[in-house]
Amino acid sequence: MPRKTELSQRVRATDKILVRVFGNPQLQGGDPVEALVGCILSQATTDAQSDAAYDALIAKYPTWGKLRDARVTDIARVIRASGLANDKARYIKHALQFIERERGKINLDFLNAMGTADARKWLMQMQGVGPKTASIVLLFAQKRPVFPVDTHVHRVTRRLGWISEKTSAEQAHELLEAQIPPKRYYALHVNLIRLGREICRAQNPRCAICPLKDLCAYFQRTQ
Ligand code: SF4
Repeated sequence: MPRKTELSQRVRATDKILVRVFGNPQLQGGDPVEALVGCILSQATTDAQSDAAYDALIAKYPTWGKLRDARVTDIARVIRASGLANDKARYIKHALQFIERERGKINLDFLNAMGTADARKWLMQMQGVGPKTASIVLLFAQKRPVFPVDTHVHRVTRRLGWISEKTSAEQAHELLEAQIPPKRYYALHVNLIRLGREICRAQNPRCAICPLKDLCAYFQRTQ
């Protein structure tokens, strides 16, 4: 593992290169319940499939109340194309029921009044909501300074040498948050995912065309 200052320089250099290659994504913010449902749907599938599943869900159940009252099997049928439909349907229904039971309505705006660590802990009480999903809700909807680590970010940051091979995705959240400037969490998260999908793939990473090879521990070790 590189020393802290060297690592921080490499993080900044990586960010600059990814902005040059992929652009500088801007955070929009949004409704946290939408972000939560969208994130549950996005697990282990493509953006196109999870977006299609979200649209189908909202067309069939135009209010959160209608979705909460639907049967798990019916929800699963609507989102079938996104994969893991039974689990996702169960998690979505449970999440909506949980929020209403705890707060009296299906709305997560009360999180605004909580500190980030408490808000993350609150969200993680729900089935199917781990550190990644909670972080996505807090970053994408509430623009909080948190860095979500999905499977692509986890793989790419291990290969780059920002975290050790043995670091789990759960542990990586805190470690990466300490290494990345908070203002860059969103853009770097989005760009690392894009790199992971298009170039630093799980099988056969395309190192020959990767813009990060000079900064990559895996590349230096294997070439
Ligand atoms: S050089 Fe290879 S291993 Fe390193 S980030 Fe690029 S594609 Fe991934």
